[in-house]
Amino acid sequence: TANITKRKSAEERVEFLATRDPLTGLPNRMLVNDRLEQGVANAARKRAGLAFMFIDLDRFKTINDSLGHDVGDELLKRVAARLSACVRVSDTVARLGGDEFAVILENLPGSESRDVHEGAQQVAEKMIAALASPIMINTHHLTTSCSIGIGIYSTDGPDPKTLMKHADVAMYDAKAKGRNNYQFFSHQLNARAQERLSIENYLRLALRRDELLLHYQPRVSFKTGQITGVEALIRWQHPRHGLLAPDKFINVAEDSGLIVPIGEWVIEHAFRQVAEWQKKSGREIRLAVNMSVGQMFDADRLVRALEQTAKAAALDLHTVELEMTESMLLKNIDDTAVLLKTLGDMGLGLAIDDFGTGYSSLSYLKQLPVDSIKVDSSFVRDIGTDPNDEAIVRAIIAMTHSLKLNVIAEGVENEDQYRVLRDLNCDEYQGFFFSTPLPPAEFEAQFLDPG
Ligand code: C2E
Ligand code: MG
Ligand code: MG
Repeated sequence: TANITKRKSAEERVEFLATRDPLTGLPNRMLVNDRLEQGVANAARKRAGLAFMFIDLDRFKTINDSLGHDVGDELLKRVAARLSACVRVSDTVARLGGDEFAVILENLPGSESRDVHEGAQQVAEKMIAALASPIMINTHHLTTSCSIGIGIYSTDGPDPKTLMKHADVAMYDAKAKGRNNYQFFSHQLNARAQERLSIENYLRLALRRDELLLHYQPRVSFKTGQITGVEALIRWQHPRHGLLAPDKFINVAEDSGLIVPIGEWVIEHAFRQVAEWQKKSGREIRLAVNMSVGQMFDADRLVRALEQTAKAAALDLHTVELEMTESMLLKNIDDTAVLLKTLGDMGLGLAIDDFGTGYSSLSYLKQLPVDSIKVDSSFVRDIGTDPNDEAIVRAIIAMTHSLKLNVIAEGVENEDQYRVLRDLNCDEYQGFFFSTPLPPAEFEAQFLDPG
C-alpha cells in the first residue's frame, strides 16, 4: 500500500504540474479549458450566471524588453496575485502564457443576463483598480494596466468555445478603445467588423508581443550535397491557435498594410540570425527572404530597411536573396524594374519564387536582374511519375541555364524526385527530403554544430 500511496501522490504531482503555469502557480490553459467546460455545464444545469474574461496586460513587452525577463517574470507573479485577490476562491484565474490571463466567474448572482453583467462588471472594475497602484520591483516603480474582454454565458456563447472566442473579440475591442478598460462582447461588434478587427489587431499585437518567429529551411547543392543557404519562413505562435503557417495570416497582413512592419521584422530577425551563423560557422550561408508586393510600394522604405539592417547586423548584402513571385514582378513593371535595379546594385540577389505557376514568361526574365529561379513544388510533386511535369521542369532548367541563372527545385520530398532533378542538372533543392523548415536552435544543432 505504501507503494500505491507513493504512486498516487506522484500521479497527483504530475497532474498538478501538468495543469499549472510554472511561473505563477496559477491554472494553465489546459485546466482553464476543463474548468470552463464544467462551469458551463453547471451553469446550464443550475441556471446560474457565468462569465469568462480574457485579460491582457498593456505594454508588458516594453517592460520586459527594457528591464529584463527577471523583472518581467516578477511583475507577472505580482499581477497574478492581485488579479486572484479580486475573485472568490471558487472562481478561476489562469495564466495562458505571456502576459495573458483568463478568468472564470461562476455562480454570479442571477441568471438574468443583466444581473450577471453587473457581477462581472464589479470584478472587472476591481481588477482595473487593483493594477492601478504601482508595483515595486527592485528599485523600479512599475505601473501597469490591463485590457479585459468579457463574455457572458449563454447570451454571448452557448458553448465554451464560442464564449472564449467572443471574450477574445471583446478584449481586442478593449485594446482598441485605448487600453486600461474592460468591454463586454456585443453582437454588433461581432458582425462583419469582428473578423477583420480581430485578425488585424491580433496581428498588430502579435508583432508587438513577439509572437512571430522564423523557421529556416536549408537549400542544398546537388553537386556538393552541401547547404548553400537557408530560406526564412515566417510563423506565428498564436497564444490560442498554436503555430500558424503564413497562409493563415499573410493575406490579412497584406490587405491591412501590416506587411510592411512585418516584412521589416522578418528582415531584421533573419539578417541577425544568419549573420550570427555565418560568423559561427565561418561559412557563407546565403539567406533567402520572401517579399510581398505591399513592401514594394514604398521602395525607399524597403531600401532603407535593407541597408540599415544589414549594417546593424554586419551582414553582407551579397549573401542575401529576395524571393518574389512572377505576379509581383509584373504588377507594375516599370517601377519594379527601377527598384530591382537599385536592389541589384546594392548586391542583393533576386529569385523568382513559385516559378511556373504564373506567366512563366521569358521576356521579363531577360529584362530584370534575376539570379535564380525556384521551380514550384507542384511540378516537383509528380516528377517521377508524370512525364508532362518532367518535360516542363526539363524545359525550365534548360531555359534558366541558357540565361545563366541558378535553378532551385522546391518541395523535394523523396529520393525519386531528388534523383530525377539531379539527373536533369538542377542546381539546388529544398524540401522535406533533406529537411523541413526548422526553428533556429534545431537548425544549428543539426547543421552547424560540429560533430
Ligand atoms: P514559398 O516561399 O514558396 O515557401 C515554400 C513553402 O513550401 C514553405 O511553406 C515550406 O514550408 C514548404 N515546403 C518546403 N519543403 C516542402 C516539401 O518538401 N513539401 C511540401 N509539401 N512543402 C514544403 P510555408 O512556410 O507555409 O510558407 C508558405 C508561403 O508563405 C511561402 O511560400 C511564402 O510565399 C510565404 N511566406 C513565408 N514567409 C514569408 C515572409 O517572411 N514574408 C512573406 N511576404 N511571405 C512569406
Ligand atoms: Mg519562398
Ligand atoms: Mg515557393
